Amino acid sequence: MSDIIQLLPDHVANQIAAGEVVQRPASVVKELLENAIDAGAETITLLLKDAGKTLIQVIDDGKGMSTTDARLCFERHATSKIKEAQDLFNLNTKGFRGEALASIAAIAHVELKTKQATEDVGTCVKIEGSTVVSQEVVNSAKGTSIAVKNLFYNIPARRNFLKSDTVETRHIIDEFQRVALAHPAIAFILHHNGNEVYHLKSSNLRKRIVGIFGGKTNEKLVPIEEHTDILTIKGFVAKPEFAKKKRGEQFFFVNDRFIKSSYLNHAVVNAFEGLLDNNAHPSYFLYLQVPPNSIDINIHPTKTEIKFDNEKNVYAILRATVKHSLGQYNVAPVLDFNRDATLDTPYDFKDKQTVSTPKIIVDPTFNPFKTESGTINHNSNSRSGVLNKNSNPPQNYKKDTGSWEALYADIQPIEPVKQEQLFDVEKENETGKTFQIQKKYILSSIKSGVVLIHQSLAHQRILYEEFLHNITVQEASSQQLLFPVSISFTKSDIEMIYSIKSDLESTGFVFNEFTKEGVVIGGIPTSITESQITLILEQLLDDIKLEVPDASFSHFDIMAKSFAKSLAIKTGTSLTVKEQENLVNNLFSCKEPNTSPFGKATFKTLPLSEIDSIFNK
Ligand code: ADP
Ligand code: MG
Repeated sequence: MSDIIQLLPDHVANQIAAGEVVQRPASVVKELLENAIDAGAETITLLLKDAGKTLIQVIDDGKGMSTTDARLCFERHATSKIKEAQDLFNLNTKGFRGEALASIAAIAHVELKTKQATEDVGTCVKIEGSTVVSQEVVNSAKGTSIAVKNLFYNIPARRNFLKSDTVETRHIIDEFQRVALAHPAIAFILHHNGNEVYHLKSSNLRKRIVGIFGGKTNEKLVPIEEHTDILTIKGFVAKPEFAKKKRGEQFFFVNDRFIKSSYLNHAVVNAFEGLLDNNAHPSYFLYLQVPPNSIDINIHPTKTEIKFDNEKNVYAILRATVKHSLGQYNVAPVLDFNRDATLDTPYDFKDKQTVSTPKIIVDPTFNPFKTESGTINHNSNSRSGVLNKNSNPPQNYKKDTGSWEALYADIQPIEPVKQEQLFDVEKENETGKTFQIQKKYILSSIKSGVVLIHQSLAHQRILYEEFLHNITVQEASSQQLLFPVSISFTKSDIEMIYSIKSDLESTGFVFNEFTKEGVVIGGIPTSITESQITLILEQLLDDIKLEVPDASFSHFDIMAKSFAKSLAIKTGTSLTVKEQENLVNNLFSCKEPNTSPFGKATFKTLPLSEIDSIFNK
């Protein structure tokens, strides 16, 4: 038989790579802004037309490119930022893959004008679908201007998949804000369809935050600062009274790069413990500096997730620092330091007798995702994937003995709180401590009264956090199907699944084939069963179509919500005592147990005092 393998032509390879780099106009904005920053620009202007669908132009006054580089920059793996693999461990630029411009040029009409300060004239390169159309000498100012027109003009499926202008603009503004917040010293200007949206002068961090979020923000900010051997933290948190009902302004930057981290978010939320109303999300703008070789930013193609070498220490320091600042600025007059808050449950501790001198506990071993039996594991035989989880509450506390003691010399770790106390579920009465009511609620006795849990909403929360965790933190685990399953979908749905294929794969789905009529699935996440595949995918497609502007994060968030909604045990399902207990314990091991992924309350506590008052009228 003749040979059948051939190398993909460059323009095809570029188009495939573009699928990873460019999901929507906002991805182009991010890449271009970052290139301008890497070029040392002092002022960066972003011009948009039609939410970036017609035009995205970034103009900078950075170092510009030589005539040869102006052509070379569109080649795949063409970068001036790293020379050898070793450099990857010492990155101080935004880009390094040398993929962005090649990818963008593969799927749009691009016009580059650039001039170096030392040259008299500049270069203009026009390139369409990876083909250079012209290259000529032009008069231009020092710096670079890149105009990206008609994004996805040659991939109609992607273009059709773009959301309304409102939604796409929102995504662009999110990226713009992140970049502008990370670089307060650089001036940023944004125009959309000829209107000025932002004009941010070079300034300091506080002024930049106010410039973006408005004058009233100023009075809300509590400064945060801490220097340690392994990291420096600076920035602001908003006072608790300004916490938002919807997850609002939450920004982490690591080495001037915006990152998403549910793990670090947990540390901050934890520091606010006791200061926030149920369901409220604190705002924060936190800047972490760590040695570049102690993080791996390479684990995600669009680089918003990050891996720290010593994330438990980072967690502990961050939490202690925020807590300390809240205390210092008198916003936390009654902070309860007498226990390790990393172990808190939302139960009411205020009746506790012991009050000791304020202490901050640094617990570098804490990992909210660890259960006593190790990391969360799914059981594919279980109806829910969660109910069989180890029923004990997390036991993460280990006394700190590491080098952090030196840092917080005046702070003594306290003895671990006993588990019963911690979890506060009454142990004297081992059996029958939970009851199911109307196959809908679970009633559980706690020291300070009772807690009433909505089984379905609570389960949604548990599943949501597990999925999110599995997608973003762990390698997704997949179970191979003995016989691949074919599922029919409409053309547009197939296109949509295709466009989120890589996201789905990171949850554990394996796609063997995309046909005209549907998809053939060879593997599924371990947490679901074969019979649930269709339901889950259909629900997901619905949810993605309905995506609203403030839909929190990426597709991952929508996926996790959607999966949680599809898989959560429903009202009307009766649960064994063991299942009830697991549900209760797993709920209170969640990062945000108070609400379902959709913001509904998952439980309500009825303190004894309230119960008493019913009968003492
Ligand atoms: P990366 O940023 O990963 O190196 P890109 O494809 O984004 O890859 O850019 C390729 C190269 O083009 C960069 O390494 C840089 O040398 C050059 N470049 C891109 N944008 C600019 C700019 N605005 N000013 C100067 N040089 C630029
Ligand atoms: Mg780049």
